[in-house]
Amino acid sequence: MQSAVRTLTILGATGSIGLSTLDVVARHPGRYRVFALSAHRQVDALVALCLRHRPACAVLGDASAAAAARARLVAAGCETDVFWGEAALAEVAAHPQVDTVMAAIVGAAGLTPAVAAARAGKRILLANKESLVMAGEVFLRACREGGATVLPIDSEHNAIFQCLPAGQRTGAATPGVRRIVLTASGGPFRRASTAEMLQATPEQACAHPRWSMGRKISVDSATMMNKGLELIEASYLFGVPESRLDVLVHPQSIVHSMVEYEDGSMLAQLGNPDMRTPIAHALAHPERIDSGVAPLSPAAVGSLEFEAPDLQRFPCLRLAHEALRAGGAAPCVLNAANEVAVAAFLAGDLRFPGIAAVAEAALAASGSRAAGADVDEVLDIDREARSFARGQLARRAA
Ligand code: NAD
Ligand code: MG
Repeated sequence: MQSAVRTLTILGATGSIGLSTLDVVARHPGRYRVFALSAHRQVDALVALCLRHRPACAVLGDASAAAAARARLVAAGCETDVFWGEAALAEVAAHPQVDTVMAAIVGAAGLTPAVAAARAGKRILLANKESLVMAGEVFLRACREGGATVLPIDSEHNAIFQCLPAGQRTGAATPGVRRIVLTASGGPFRRASTAEMLQATPEQACAHPRWSMGRKISVDSATMMNKGLELIEASYLFGVPESRLDVLVHPQSIVHSMVEYEDGSMLAQLGNPDMRTPIAHALAHPERIDSGVAPLSPAAVGSLEFEAPDLQRFPCLRLAHEALRAGGAAPCVLNAANEVAVAAFLAGDLRFPGIAAVAEAALAASGSRAAGADVDEVLDIDREARSFARGQLARRAA
């Protein structure tokens, strides 16, 4: 029996995850209807997506981008209404006609619309890991109070979700689970020396060996901060403390993560490294649909390797373990300082090892500050940590 048509808002539609989502959606005409698409500044890309998918609404970052898009859509005879700004993002995320929200904005900007979707009780396909890292408790509380469901999109968390018993709620611990093991590709600098990493350019850092992703998360993969943020994400999503979360480097990126049970069983989810698999899984859950991803050929892969991560060469991963153990505001501070540092690295204003140094200084300065009790307090902590990190950048440049 064909399920009811699902109506979608895709936040961050022009990004890597947004485009992969639309690719899967386009393979199933009649099953999904696109209600709203958003982008920050990419007017051309968003207009092209509106002409193709004909959403009721589109949202851009500012008034002039919205005016430019509106003029182009009207001229093309497209009836999409164009809005702009944070309030409009929250509105399309919480709109009564929408049942499913793909939260695929990059960075802290994704928090407010994700919380709006949570309060409105949507099915949230959560790619924006920063929401959970910054505001794990606040976001999960909003989900509980609003009656929202979270389906993880991050490939590791989607894999873990698939390896947990059916019906497992996010945010709740599962009895019988001994350990969760997140796999990491190791990124482009898996074998690089500290001296080589000192000279790393943004182009090298963004040339990921296995996954094609946006630039910010690509740099996070190169520093392994991405895996660190994912540890924190996993701790909130699956109710598991830091002591029962491990990372293993697995350069083939075929095993997307593993769950070890008390009885010695270890379950893993395998697949080719293509985000359309977790996206299709979450879109159709609990059913299964074609994602367009080529079937995995274990014989062609041949062998799977695993090794412990090197916390000396990848201090960002160590910092994330520390932030998770410290709790309170530490994960939010780590995320904010990292975003500032990564932007500076991408702009050519900070060397690669400086990212970890800025993040470490911000964590040390935040002491044992408590977590934000609501979105406003979380955003205050985020702003202060950013301003501290910018101060560090200025000191390093001086
Ligand atoms: P991307 O840079 O390719 O796209 C980001 C999207 O967000 C774009 O549509 C952009 O217009 C929008 N955006 C950027 N800044 C914004 C702002 N200030 N306000 C509103 N919108 C803004 O990023 P991506 O790689 O698609 O990643 C999106 C999210 O998914 C991130 O949180 C990332 O960590 C997560 N994720 C990505 C992948 C991947 O394979 N790309 C895998 C796992 C998780
Ligand atoms: Mg991931």
